[in-house]
Amino acid sequence: MIEIKNVSKWYGDFQVLNDCSTKVGKGEVVVVCGPSGSGKSTLIKTVNALEPFEKGEITVGATSVGDPRTNLPRLRAIAGMVFQHFELFPHLTVTENLCLGQIKVLKRSREDARARAWTLLERVGLSGHKDKHPGSLSGGQQQRVAIARALSMDPVVMLFDEPTSALDPEMVKEVLDVMTDLASEGMTMMVVTHEMGFARRVADRVIFMDEGRIVEDCPKAEFFGDVNARAPRTRLFLSKIL
Ligand code: ADP
Ligand code: MG
Repeated sequence: MIEIKNVSKWYGDFQVLNDCSTKVGKGEVVVVCGPSGSGKSTLIKTVNALEPFEKGEITVGATSVGDPRTNLPRLRAIAGMVFQHFELFPHLTVTENLCLGQIKVLKRSREDARARAWTLLERVGLSGHKDKHPGSLSGGQQQRVAIARALSMDPVVMLFDEPTSALDPEMVKEVLDVMTDLASEGMTMMVVTHEMGFARRVADRVIFMDEGRIVEDCPKAEFFGDVNARAPRTRLFLSKIL
């Protein structure tokens, strides 16, 4: 579903991504971890063209991300993204947040969009909040709205960039639970997170990045197995967070 092939990117002289390659198969959940500044956000944002890249190729399903003819709103619909800080529209209600893209990009009728929105709000446990504004919800609730909004566009893959790292500890679980359900329903997911409990339970593979490179890309059992088989940089990272 996602193929990243020899992708490099620079900010001026600074190389932020260095020859990154990986694949995410249908229904697979891949967790991306690594120190701050290692390029995790940049990598995941190249997948739905929020960040351009200078070298390499990325495809999502049959869509070539770097192709100038690619319809970016459509790409961002099929590769739904959830950010650390939710990025909801503060002036719109929860329902309106979920309808906007469906109407504008997918050309759904207002009625169809609303029906889909309400189904998804029920699925993330927020039926009672559909007419509220994001600002009146907790962080965990806002993040669940953001997940529902991405799902309203019928994505084939979901990209998460540290979806729980801005949340108070007691709200982390409600968001991880929604993500776990999504994974068990077969959604293809790429998740930047330091929630190693989630990685152990839900991931199929774990990628470790350092200084713009993919240092490890291996099945979960291997990643959390024999630490002595891991690269020194990975071991140091794991020793700090586990
Ligand atoms: P991570 O998500 O792993 O913390 P990022 O992908 O956000 O890392 O950033 C990787 C590196 O690129 C960091 O050193 C960061 O300072 C740098 N960087 C990110 N965005 C920009 C930008 N717009 N201009 C210049 N440097 C940037
Ligand atoms: Mg980041």
